[in-house]
Amino acid sequence: MDSDKKKTIDRRTFLKGATSAAIVGGAAVTAGCKGKNLMNSSETFALEFQEYFKKHYRLMTQAERDKTVLRLENMARLKQDLTVDIDTTGPAPDVLYGYAFNVTRCEGYMECVKACIKENNLDRKSDTQYIRIFEMEHGQMSPDQGDGKYFHMVPRDGHFYMGVQCFQCDNPPCVKACPTKATWREPDGIVVVDYDWCIGCRYCMAACPYWGRRFNWNTPEIPTEEITTKQHYLGNRQRVRGMMEKCTFCIQRSRKGKMTACVEACPTGARVFGNLLDPDSEIRFVLENKKVYRLKEDLGTEPKFWYFID
Ligand code: SF4
Repeated sequence: MDSDKKKTIDRRTFLKGATSAAIVGGAAVTAGCKGKNLMNSSETFALEFQEYFKKHYRLMTQAERDKTVLRLENMARLKQDLTVDIDTTGPAPDVLYGYAFNVTRCEGYMECVKACIKENNLDRKSDTQYIRIFEMEHGQMSPDQGDGKYFHMVPRDGHFYMGVQCFQCDNPPCVKACPTKATWREPDGIVVVDYDWCIGCRYCMAACPYWGRRFNWNTPEIPTEEITTKQHYLGNRQRVRGMMEKCTFCIQRSRKGKMTACVEACPTGARVFGNLLDPDSEIRFVLENKKVYRLKEDLGTEPKFWYFID
């Protein structure tokens, strides 16, 4: 569909809707809830109005998902002059993702953190990170809760490094805690969030024993030229203020058969990601041949994230 025709349709849709009192009320609610600027054009007004009333992602047909994606892509074009490509690729059969972290190899460079921030369009203003690298003293069993930030030369004598992020639990307490069912576990094991159904109550954040969830206290700010435009609806598409987000094992990459950004960026090869159901995968090799352990295993969360040593 060419952009002129699209413009006409959107405007007509908007004008038709704008005559009803429901739209005025709906727009006011939208503005109140999301804090967005709805007045930048009638087209964005119409698109945002439709966005606000869409179904939960899991209830949408593929046609409805396609329409939603087109709307979001058009909004990015209208509001940011940006061409984004939002994907809705679902889970593949016989795939269950898992991750392993080599604590003897990580030297604390945080290249993974930087790659994740860029790939997943994380807010630069609040310096949000999905991944935390904890610097721990030899003999320390578990990281102290904190932001995992340190500002000195690494590796530091007498210390080792431990990466923590969402562990994509098979029995995720965050999912049970969500009152709006905005978060769930996909069949390939990735725990996702429908950002538009999240009400920002942060119950999931309190329920997660691994500090895996992040809350957008402000409207995320990313320089336009740094936005990753290859996006997934349940992954790195742009978010708004007042909702939760987290690592999705780079769903926009992994479901396309690629490695996560953190695995690609790690200069020491400390990170391993792959399909747990594939007997020839590297992750299976690690689980079958290395000494592995999981954090807080006694909680019954069944994290799909293992630590190992060479
Ligand atoms: Fe949920 Fe935390 Fe488990 Fe991730 S690590 S699935 S956020 S409970």
